[in-house]
Amino acid sequence: MAKRVFIGVGHGGSDSGAVANGFKEKDLNLAIALACRDELTRHGVKVGMSRTKDEADPLTDEIKECNAFGPDYAVEIHNNAGGGDGVEIYHHYGGGKGKTLAQNILNEIVAIGQNSRGLKTKKNSDGRDYFGWIRQTVAPACLVECAFVDNKKDITIIDTAAEQKKMGIAIAKGILKTLGITWMAEKPKETPVNDTKKLYRVQVGAYAELKNAEEMLKKLKSAGFDGIIV
Ligand SMILES: [Zn+2]
Repeated sequence: MAKRVFIGVGHGGSDSGAVANGFKEKDLNLAIALACRDELTRHGVKVGMSRTKDEADPLTDEIKECNAFGPDYAVEIHNNAGGGDGVEIYHHYGGGKGKTLAQNILNEIVAIGQNSRGLKTKKNSDGRDYFGWIRQTVAPACLVECAFVDNKKDITIIDTAAEQKKMGIAIAKGILKTLGITWMAEKPKETPVNDTKKLYRVQVGAYAELKNAEEMLKKLKSAGFDGIIV
């Protein structure tokens, strides 16, 4: 049976998350999440997402959607603020599969050149896990803070569409590893073999005069065809 992964996309709608340096966190989260989804889907994973466009999606709804989807793993994608530098990933303070997931994702994000602030845990004052995403999701979960939106240097790791895609693919690679699925590079697009040249027989009789047939042949050749006069 196909493995299942749920991706929570942080913020959305009127909740932009961190806003700095011309970026809104909600947009970065979505671009990264969509790339992550595509990469997982390419490897046969069934992916659920809390949102696939810019819309309001409160965390409580995300958690409900996630638990209804019944994934093997749950990953929430965010970007950070507060002037730090690098990726940090939260997992349940009890460790377990969520920690393995977090470590595998961290390794892949470091591999694309991002600094690491390491794996983190956070508890509530009542001793439970601080993050609802980690506390209330049934599946092993982690929360990825890819980069600091408000750090001019750190944001450069995801300030183009191509880099956001790269970040999404890195997260997917970490998830795939956790699922025991071997990552495979995308097959290069096949360049069509130049076999489009077709030989046309230009019948002189059809053009009454040889001159006309020669003109037709010239036209064919300039269009990239070969021809012969018969
Ligand atoms: Zn956030």
